[in-house]
Amino acid sequence: MPQDHSIRTDSKWLIKIENKNTKRIVKNKSRENQMAQIETEQLQLKEIYQLSFDIFSKYGCDNNNATALARTVETAERDGSLSHGLFRIPGYIASLKSGKVKGSAQPKVENNMASIVSVDADHGYAPFALERGLPVLAQAANQTGIAIMKITNTFHFAALWPETEFLAEKGLVGVACTVYKPAVAPAGAGQAFFGTNPLSFAWPRPGKTPVVFDMATSTLAMGDVQIAARDGHELPHGTGLGPDGKPSDDPAEILKGVLLPFGGYKGSAISLMVELLSAGMTGDNFSYEAGENENNDGGPTKGGELVIAINPELVAGAGWADHSEGFFQKLEELEGIRVPGERRHKNRLDLGARNINKELLEKLRDLLQAVYP
Ligand code: NDP
Repeated sequence: MPQDHSIRTDSKWLIKIENKNTKRIVKNKSRENQMAQIETEQLQLKEIYQLSFDIFSKYGCDNNNATALARTVETAERDGSLSHGLFRIPGYIASLKSGKVKGSAQPKVENNMASIVSVDADHGYAPFALERGLPVLAQAANQTGIAIMKITNTFHFAALWPETEFLAEKGLVGVACTVYKPAVAPAGAGQAFFGTNPLSFAWPRPGKTPVVFDMATSTLAMGDVQIAARDGHELPHGTGLGPDGKPSDDPAEILKGVLLPFGGYKGSAISLMVELLSAGMTGDNFSYEAGENENNDGGPTKGGELVIAINPELVAGAGWADHSEGFFQKLEELEGIRVPGERRHKNRLDLGARNINKELLEKLRDLLQAVYP
């Protein structure tokens, strides 16, 4: 099976892909250090799906919502997006239990204006709202060249690549973004105001897997900081500040303090754009508003999501695919290059079992066995 290697390095740190699908953040000291023992158990993808579906159903999701959520978890684990797979289930369940999120949400899709699709997610999790809205968005973009979808009254707790990749697989360019609650200090500030504000972009490549990037606009996604804290790894210098406002390498301290935007003031500007597109443009919460109304039950915050679909055939005209393929060919000739999305797409080719953190699995099985309601 294909194996990917270190994905980001500097002299002291690396973020490494191990065992095909595991991203770990480790201090680049020694092999022994990198291989710090984490107990795992193997689960097949269909077992991951079933475990997720059973848990979501038990805690009040109807069939549609449980199916959409379990698919989201399974595809995250399949692709090695570990911070947004099984790891997220306790948080999803916390918000179902607190009543903040509706397990039987019925998203309502409207497409009254040719290029604008509005989805009211009915206070449910995003995956079912996306499942309902994305085909309508794709259809609208194929008619008008460009269309946007605003999703409101939703709770996004997943990766964003599933939505942009859905569009790219239909020959469309996809852009998606959403906000969170204050967790990131804008450049120059010492206090949280932006969310981790992810942004995803996908470009279709007929006959090939699309190029897709999906990234938090903070130095790291919150899930990765939580995983580093759980697994006892330090983080690269510059990731965040502790509660005292001073730079810290300790994920537990950063969880009490703030993350920083990636790339200083430039990343901060992109995070600001994500706030405006996801909240200013949808009418739902900015991160600070989400924070003010949040019950802090451990799940996601209420907010909006903006998804943009562009039809390159209608905008750039025939020949767009060959033209951009020429670009990718030149890019891929450069030594040391890989295009974003490639790691996940390689992981996806492996249909075998995945190594799941044992402690997490025990937590999930406890959820399934607990008496509820
Ligand atoms: P990463 O830093 O791991 O990766 C960001 C992007 O860069 C990915 O598309 C990745 O591609 C690509 N990439 C990584 N290394 C390289 C390389 N060497 N060359 C080229 N491309 C590379 O992601 P983050 O930690 O920032 O975010 C993780 C996830 O968290 C995202 O899916 C995001 O949507 C999610 N998130 C969700 C939130 C929510 O509220 N729902 C909030 C914040 C984050 P590849 O995948 O192929 O490695």
